[in-house]
Amino acid sequence: MTSTTAATRETQAPQRTDAIVIGAGFGGMYAVHRLRCEGLSVLGLEAGGDVGGTWYWNRYPGARCDVTSIDYSYAFSEAIEQEWTWSETFAAGSEILAYANFVADRLDLRSAYRFNSRAQVIAFDEARQVWTLMTARGERFEADHLIMATGPLSLPKPIDIPGAESFRGELYRSGKWPHHAVDFSGKRVGLVGTGSSGIQIAPVVAETCQSLSVFQRTPSFTLPMRNRAISDDFAAQLKANMSGLRAVARNTFTGGVRPLSTRPLFSVSAEERNELMEDAWNKGALYFLGLFSDLLTNAAANEVVADFVRGKIDQVVDDPVTAGKLKPRGYPIYARRPCLDTHYYETFNKPHVSLVDCFEEPITAITETGLRTTQRQIDLDVIIMATGFDALTGPMLAIDITGRDGVKLSDAWRDGPRSYLALLMDGFPNLFIIGGPNGPSILANYIRLDEMNVDWVVDCVLHMRRQGLATVEATPEAVARWGQTVGEIADRTLYVKADTWYTGANIEGKPRGFHVFAGGLNRYAEVCAGVAAAGYEGCSFTARQSTI
Ligand code: NAP
Repeated sequence: MTSTTAATRETQAPQRTDAIVIGAGFGGMYAVHRLRCEGLSVLGLEAGGDVGGTWYWNRYPGARCDVTSIDYSYAFSEAIEQEWTWSETFAAGSEILAYANFVADRLDLRSAYRFNSRAQVIAFDEARQVWTLMTARGERFEADHLIMATGPLSLPKPIDIPGAESFRGELYRSGKWPHHAVDFSGKRVGLVGTGSSGIQIAPVVAETCQSLSVFQRTPSFTLPMRNRAISDDFAAQLKANMSGLRAVARNTFTGGVRPLSTRPLFSVSAEERNELMEDAWNKGALYFLGLFSDLLTNAAANEVVADFVRGKIDQVVDDPVTAGKLKPRGYPIYARRPCLDTHYYETFNKPHVSLVDCFEEPITAITETGLRTTQRQIDLDVIIMATGFDALTGPMLAIDITGRDGVKLSDAWRDGPRSYLALLMDGFPNLFIIGGPNGPSILANYIRLDEMNVDWVVDCVLHMRRQGLATVEATPEAVARWGQTVGEIADRTLYVKADTWYTGANIEGKPRGFHVFAGGLNRYAEVCAGVAAAGYEGCSFTARQSTI
């Protein structure tokens, strides 16, 4: 872009709509659709080149959702449910992206969006009660309502190992994977990171590369996904029963139809629980995750299951030293997000795959020819950084947002994110968050949560229009009360016992805290519905100023 073009854009009158939606992931797409259905003018902005959100960016080999496809899909349209057919129980990233594109075509969503438009500076103009926005390209927009559907995991963590620019080979990031095919054949590959992304990448890359070195710092607990093809018969049965499945899912802790138990672990004998675990392990993670009710509240029960999984690593991995290093210790199972894999542990039995323990030999630098640890230089042709995200708050804080009285979001969230129901804040009128911090967020089925949040937000906007109200925000008291509720529930769980991206521990200098509502999606839905039914209790509104 020439500077003249940028200057022209800055002097042009900004385009004004009723609402701006930031993000074209599942939350943003549904927000655009619902607002348009209600007759509002909407502008969607998306930094990527097309729809899909996380699935647009995370195209790494092996990408697959750890929520079943039947749950990880929209429920708001029966027509779409019937028209789309999933091919596998856990869909691959490419199929989910195809689904997002299908929905965008079907509902003509792209016509509302500007792609390759990254929101950079956003400010509330108090005199005019309007949000003003400028993109990184200098485009300017205004709207009454601002809907942040920026997602919890859309900002990759910066590479914190020095020397990336000196590497002469190919360097990829799992969260910003290129759109062209990457050929690993005949190449020496180094994979840094063993969270959900790294664990999905390793087995696929190992199929074609010359050698794979997996650089592991904290080992993850991972469970066999046991993904299966969905037969035509099963797909037909699912479609015939969709409304019942959705009703069940809506009333669960996670918003999915997976099995759940009310049975505490120590309520069954050691022999019986071993049989249960063995059976569930063979059936797959979905069953294993739902075996006992108290794994996140009872440390001793948690340790029994953690030990079972460690035993499985011993059974699968041939080399006892590698098996020992792969075993997670020092934090409860499920306190870090459990990974679901396809042959991850088996991959370490391949002669060309090796594990580098980054606790024994931390990586000190990316060099011209590979990675250097405290003990040696490992020469590589390809480095894959699967090192995670500045999660939950990172994507919103990456935008320069100023609310009422010139208060910056970065100041309001200096000690951690503050919000009411994860939907509204105090001091940021008419700024709504979809899937935000302090909500069920990453503990829930995200698409169910997106739909729930969007419906609440759109209903609130319609309420304001009916009542002649100009702005809504949370009261400081409601924000403080909600923060306390979220904290009290978190403190009763083992989530707070591990250093994870859940708590901000993966980003240096980030305030620590578990800012996720761990009371269940079903409970959260009840609370949000109750607040709306009580006339938006905890919210303060201002009346629309007369123009006469
Ligand atoms: P992650 O869970 O944060 O894992 C990042 C990994 O990189 C960790 O093993 C971390 O080790 C390691 N790492 C970071 N910096 C390092 C360094 N300097 N040296 C060595 N190791 C380093 O990130 P992720 O795997 O991208 O997953 C993030 C979340 O995205 C998941 O928990 C999940 O919610 C979502 N996700 C879901 C799926 C799915 O649906 N199947 C797939 C991918 C991602 P430390 O832990 O020691 O810091």
